[in-house]
Amino acid sequence: MIFRQLFDPQSSTYTYLLADPVSREAVLIDAVFDQARRDAALIDELGLKLKFTLETHVHADHVTGAWLLKQKLGSRIAVSAASGAEGADVYLRPQEKTPFGSRHLEARATPGHTGACTTYVLDDRSMAFTGDTLFIRGCGRTDFQGGDAHSLFNSVRAQIFSLPDDCLIYPGHDYRGLTVTSVGEEKLHNPRLAESIGENDFVGYMTNLGLPHPKQMDIAVPANLKCGRPEKTSTLEPDWAPLTYTFGGIWEVQPHWLEEHLRDVHIVDVREPEEFDGPLGHVPGATLVPLGTLTKRVGDLKKDKPIIAVCRSGARSAQATVLLGKAGFDRVANLSGGMLRWHAQRLAVEGGTE
Ligand code: FE
Repeated sequence: MIFRQLFDPQSSTYTYLLADPVSREAVLIDAVFDQARRDAALIDELGLKLKFTLETHVHADHVTGAWLLKQKLGSRIAVSAASGAEGADVYLRPQEKTPFGSRHLEARATPGHTGACTTYVLDDRSMAFTGDTLFIRGCGRTDFQGGDAHSLFNSVRAQIFSLPDDCLIYPGHDYRGLTVTSVGEEKLHNPRLAESIGENDFVGYMTNLGLPHPKQMDIAVPANLKCGRPEKTSTLEPDWAPLTYTFGGIWEVQPHWLEEHLRDVHIVDVREPEEFDGPLGHVPGATLVPLGTLTKRVGDLKKDKPIIAVCRSGARSAQATVLLGKAGFDRVANLSGGMLRWHAQRLAVEGGTE
């Protein structure tokens, strides 16, 4: 199986990608709205087809990427039937299976953190995705969204600790840099829920946590009750060119598009002068601004047209797009593959000897 654990640093949320290597069908558990481009680029680069996004619960700390990924990749949105979320394609019942290729995830009702939390268990019971029901040496809070410490205790004992001891537990968050644990490990070492701890001890612990409400709660909960569909849906993607977003976080444009739009953009070549006038030549109309001088000379660049950054292979110019973005240029893209690909596609150059 193909498996990736992805992290959103803003909310410390883990997103999990699981895929069947033969059929290439994939599912994504707890996608984050702000990371949807990253996730889509990864799915694309790995040659996968996203069948479903799954939610462990209605999150209070981030907006789900489910709706956005559906727009980008045509995935179907699956949530638990008890979640109360509108706009999903599949409303999962307890024990219902979500297939991807020859594999599947089983939904287990594990209420407690919220009234409708779900734990997803892989078909061979080697992995469980517990959301905020069970963390590594901890658990989610139980003081809002229909949370209840008694039900969380019983959910963990009946639905999670009943899995094999070597079943790996992948939580919805971790705030300390930990990534994975196992059923056996948490039975022994979880300071709230270990097998040696009784229900009343646990409930006493949880009712005295005294946590502040999450900062994002007022935005995240209503948005997640609509599966992450924003109020305004127009300005999410740059529309000035057919840009692609790489897993490395860079907007790119293809050489053929640039060739047809040379007059509609400013082309900034960030190589050194001897390369600009060297054998590869440069894109017609390009301005030379070596990468090392870009930050100093950023004031010379105009914002009336989008900027396309160019270098030999596309690496330095990718860095240039990041620097330009930080300097306040919002229409910036990298020439995919740089001058090497430009040459390989036999497009016109100025200068050059090849
Ligand atoms: Fe949560």
